[in-house]
Amino acid sequence: MTQRHIVPAGGGVGLRLERGRELRVIDVEGGQSGDLFAYSADGRERLSNGRTFDYGGKIYLSTGDVLWSDRSSPMLTIVADEVGRHDFLYAPCSREMYRIQYGATGDHPNCHDNLSAALRELGIDAPVLPAAFNFFMNVDVVDGGRLVIAPPRSRAGDSFVVRAEMDLAIALSSCPASLCNGGRAPRPLAYEIGTTSERR
Ligand SMILES: [Zn+2]
Repeated sequence: MTQRHIVPAGGGVGLRLERGRELRVIDVEGGQSGDLFAYSADGRERLSNGRTFDYGGKIYLSTGDVLWSDRSSPMLTIVADEVGRHDFLYAPCSREMYRIQYGATGDHPNCHDNLSAALRELGIDAPVLPAAFNFFMNVDVVDGGRLVIAPPRSRAGDSFVVRAEMDLAIALSSCPASLCNGGRAPRPLAYEIGTTSERR
């Protein structure tokens, strides 16, 4: 059995994923969105939603789609997806976002700092991050471009799997923004590393 690791509710973790290895991310309780950010192991390339839109030609990504780097290298391929709806438009929630949108004063748990701290532990200095892959986050584009955030479609135990196309440093965050989680407080996520055959 592959070992299952937990992403704490509203927190983040970092992991390394070698080329060819697979990462499964699981919504343990259902309805919880999260953020994934990736750097090449050497820190030279990072995940780019814009390049991914360039080469994929679409904003909704699922099985078979590739996540590209800002230097135009394939980073991750989605090889399985039980949910089928993720967002790649929004930047990770941040301290500033909670201040500007909700008037939060002082610190507020946020995906940006979770991802940045997790990457720092992997030896990658990423003080400012662009858009992350917001897995399970359910965003509709309506009325000529307006964005509507709906509850995640993920049910308890649902997951997606990505395969590394290069050696990667990856950060995951359980998003603390209730708007992105159907109005609920953040809950934990989980992940497993291995190949499909190892996980059987
Ligand atoms: Zn967030």
